[in-house]
This record gives sequence, structure tokens and C-alpha cells, in this order.
Amino acid sequence: MGAHNCESQGTRLVSLLVDDILALDAGGLTSSLTFAEQLKLKAILLTHQHYDHIRDVPAIAMTFYLSGATINVYSILPVYNALLTHLLNGELYPNFLERPQGNPIVKFTVIEPYKTEQIEGYSILAVPVNHCVPSVGYQITSADGKGIFYTGDAGPGLAHCWEYVSPQLLITEVTASNRFLEFGREKGHLTPSLLREELLSFQKIKGYLPEVIAVHMNPNLEAEIEAELAVVAKDLGSSITLAYEGRQLYL
Ligand SMILES: [Zn+2]
Ligand SMILES: [Zn+2]
Repeated sequence: MGAHNCESQGTRLVSLLVDDILALDAGGLTSSLTFAEQLKLKAILLTHQHYDHIRDVPAIAMTFYLSGATINVYSILPVYNALLTHLLNGELYPNFLERPQGNPIVKFTVIEPYKTEQIEGYSILAVPVNHCVPSVGYQITSADGKGIFYTGDAGPGLAHCWEYVSPQLLITEVTASNRFLEFGREKGHLTPSLLREELLSFQKIKGYLPEVIAVHMNPNLEAEIEAELAVVAKDLGSSITLAYEGRQLYL
């Protein structure tokens, strides 16, 4: 739904939809879906508390509130605390995390990293990643064994994740182009050359390379990122393509 880190008429903040019922991050959620589609959602998984990933939580909560329904949101504890303190705090917006009392609109469940959870028919595993605030990536495996891993925002050091996940499809952030390598290392983001190192470690640990889709691109750097990723893909003999708003994939 949203494939970028900046919003404009043609780009939305990061948000992915799995099988119409599971949303990964909520940057560009409500603006991408009709009300009927929003109400089909069974769960939202949030990777971290940054605004571009949680932006539409209040808006989706209002849709569900006005329809007399509730929505399940899952993430790590710091994300719950950030939502409660800064966003759904009763001042900026109604406290849908606690209201109505006893049956809140947003049913938030704290997810523990490294512990597989069964959510809406999927096996979900959260794995911590390196970013400037506490963040997790999610492996989502369907009942028939198809699996994706979504990194959320993550800098170098994904190698330890590869011990825990075995996706057919890797949806990874690539925020900036290679000339921003130091920025990536410092803030916890990837560039094509940093991703190359992570993919090499994946191949070493797992013995294969998954199909790779890049998300969370800075729109101003997208052409550069695309050209640099093409070089990495050719070098590794793998498929690496860019996500875009409205892109659909079938596993
Ligand atoms: Zn972030
Ligand atoms: Zn972000």
C-alpha cells in the first residue's frame, strides 16, 4: 500500500497488506483502502514507533469505532507505550487503547521477540533489528508454509535474524543510496551496498537467496537506489526489485 518514507500525491508511507486481512505497519493504511477493505482487516503488526509506521492507527481506530467493531494491533511494548503517551492519549486523539472501558477499539497485544505466535491463522515471529529506536522485523508464515520476512526499518546487522527465519520472500527496507552509507550505519537504515552484505550473510547461513523486494525508499533517491540494486542483483544472481504503491505479489 505504501512503499516510501515520504508522502506525496504519488507516494505513501510504508504499509503492506497480506491476504487482505493482515497489515504490516500503518503508514499508508487508511488512504489505500476503502472502508469495506479497512473493516476486513483482522490484525495490524507494527515494527516500531516511528511516525511513518504508525501514522494511520488513529484513523483506522476511528473507522472501526464508527462501525462498532474492534481491531487487533500487535507490537513490542515500546510501541504500545509510545501510542498511549503521544498519540491515542486522549488529547491528540481519543484513547482507543483503553476506551470504551472493558472493550477498547484497539485491542493491543504485546509481542515478545523470538516467540512464535499464532495470529489469524499465521505463524508470526518477531525478531529484533538494529534501528535508532526498539524495532522488530516479522516473519509471517501461512498455514501452507509460505513465508515472508519484513524487516521494518533496519540497519546493518541482520545476520542474527537469518538464524531464525527462512522466508521465500524478503521485504527489506532500502532507505537511501550508497552515498548515504554512513547515515545508514548511524541511524539504522540500509543502502544497496549494505543490503548486499546482509544478503551475502543470508546466503552463507541459509544456503539460498530469497526473492527480495525493497521498500521505504526515499523518493528523491529512488532512481539511484534502483540502479544500485540492479548491480547488487546481477552480482549475486538474485532477484531484487522495488516495491511501489499498488504492487501485488503472489507467492
Ligand atoms: Zn524508523
Ligand atoms: Zn521509517
